[in-house]
Amino acid sequence: MSLSEFDLIERYFRGCGAKRADVRVGVGDDAAILECPADSELVAAVDSLVDGVHFPQGSPPASVGHRALAVNLSDLAAMGARPAWALLALTLPRPDESWLSEFAAGMAALARAHEVALVGGDTTSGPLCITVQVLGHVPRSSALLRSGGRPGDAVFVSGTPGDAAAGLGVEQGRLPATGEAAAYLRERFLYPAPRVALGECLRRYAGACIDVSDGLLGDAAKLARASGCGVEISYDEVPVSEALKRTVGEERARELALTGGDDYELCFSVRPNHIARLLAELPPQRWGYTRIGTLREAAGADVLRDGTVISLSHSGYDHFETPG
Ligand code: ADP
Ligand code: MG
Repeated sequence: MSLSEFDLIERYFRGCGAKRADVRVGVGDDAAILECPADSELVAAVDSLVDGVHFPQGSPPASVGHRALAVNLSDLAAMGARPAWALLALTLPRPDESWLSEFAAGMAALARAHEVALVGGDTTSGPLCITVQVLGHVPRSSALLRSGGRPGDAVFVSGTPGDAAAGLGVEQGRLPATGEAAAYLRERFLYPAPRVALGECLRRYAGACIDVSDGLLGDAAKLARASGCGVEISYDEVPVSEALKRTVGEERARELALTGGDDYELCFSVRPNHIARLLAELPPQRWGYTRIGTLREAAGADVLRDGTVISLSHSGYDHFETPG
């Protein structure tokens, strides 16, 4: 971007997020210089949000800023890592001041909440696209991997999946909803809360962990496959919010919880002999997670209802078509 690129960076992105002592050099030089704690490993993730693909065109700019960071924080949470620094590659059709200030405010608020400093980036002109890279760390060899599960491990999920997929439906006018439930569901899509603190704590209990971004069933299947096993999920145990139940009914709520997307919750497995310690030390009602199933020897991912395997449609859009 020409003339105003320098001003734009100074105005909106220098000093964005938390101030951290481990940032030797941040925004302003050719690259950032960051100091990792001793005996730690660097954990890095990057994700792009494309206008009209990963968020509806005309989304609130604060939500776009929030989500661009949140999706990356969620990836770090799934590794059990503590986030520290972020870089932002921003492609903008034009330097719209009011859009930029809301976007930066949305990103900065979430960054501060997780003590993340924005330490660099790139600004270019073109169709709206936001790429954020997050860097964090874990004590050496302690990161949570997808591959750490074993047959017999209990499988848990945080939060109430399905809300965000319904919220997107509400946001796009595909799902009729009004009042408090509509507001709650929209908020869950627009401002997801990455489970950073839970992820860090889970290093002491979980065998494997993945963040739920593409639908709980599919992501649980990825965890199971990476662990060389399969997974059975109990339909009746899948947690759903009251707002989602009220809006789409209990059946479709469970189906959305299993196959929706954009949840940014954590799905994790725990060895049988660690479950009691997990439940005692991280009380589920306080930390907000639920047991939903078990890893098994046989490959694949099944949802069981009253002892019978049921099949589910995987298409997000179909969920909002009137049945029959
Ligand atoms: P160069 O092209 O020489 O790399 P830039 O003008 O792209 O320099 O960037 C100048 C400084 O501003 C660098 O420190 C870069 O990391 C930072 N920066 C550029 N764009 C952004 C952005 N969108 N958010 C945060 N920092 C940025
Ligand atoms: Mg540059």
